[in-house]
Amino acid sequence: APGIAVHNVKFQYAGRSAALDSVSFEAPAGGRTAIVGPSGAGKTTLFALLQRFYEPESGMITVDGTDIAKLTRAEVRRRIGYVEQDAPALSGTLESNLRYAAPDATDEELEDVLRATRLSDLVERLPDGLNTMVGTRGVALSGGERQRLAIARALLRRPQVLLMDEATSQLDARNEVALREAVDQAAERCTVLLIAHRLSTVVSADRIVVLERGRVAATGTHEQLLGAS
Ligand code: ADP
Ligand code: ADP
Repeated sequence: APGIAVHNVKFQYAGRSAALDSVSFEAPAGGRTAIVGPSGAGKTTLFALLQRFYEPESGMITVDGTDIAKLTRAEVRRRIGYVEQDAPALSGTLESNLRYAAPDATDEELEDVLRATRLSDLVERLPDGLNTMVGTRGVALSGGERQRLAIARALLRRPQVLLMDEATSQLDARNEVALREAVDQAAERCTVLLIAHRLSTVVSADRIVVLERGRVAATGTHEQLLGAS
């Protein structure tokens, strides 16, 4: 099946009770699935398994129908992109940051991703903050712009899945809208699974998976979840 399918996954850190137990859900291709749940619910552990930093004790995870346990590390890294909350920017312009992340990307792909992440007008910015070098003031990129740069870097590598752990800090309204649009655009290019911290992200997700104490407590659209409570 296209998208991500998690089948009955169990994972336990040594000497601890199960961090994930009987976890099953699907994240349909080309959609935004939000993972929500309190601290300790298992969200980070789930992301670690999806990137194969750890192997499940039992169960299986498939991406577009392929069991990820059968992929090499390089294949996992290529297919499953992770958007860091605080990805360090390299010296140089925003454009050179992107080209470094995906040296094989064509100019068309670069322009597509810049448009998708609303960064087309910022290609000359210096993300690591050396703005004084060009005589401008203030921060090189805002928090929201930095996150869009991180999404752009990941998208340029044409992943099948994009994992995002949303920042807990608040963005201003304009950055929040631009970020949501970038995530929508990402979902047209791959399957997006995000750990959501903002209500607006949860509301705009196509599907929500609620984790509690390592188990799936509920899944559905936000209307379904609100209707059920
Ligand atoms: P979340 O991201 O939802 O806050 P985590 O996946 O970080 O949840 O944690 C799930 C459970 O696993 C928690 O009980 C946590 O204490 C435990 N845990 C997380 N990382 C480790 C680790 N490296 N070693 C032992 N226990 C861990
Ligand atoms: P601001 O948005 O004004 O930079 P924040 O408190 O949101 O303030 O951010 C604090 C730091 O974390 C800043 O360096 C910011 O660039 C960075 N940051 C904030 N949110 C994100 C994000 N979602 N992704 C990447 N970096 C972020």
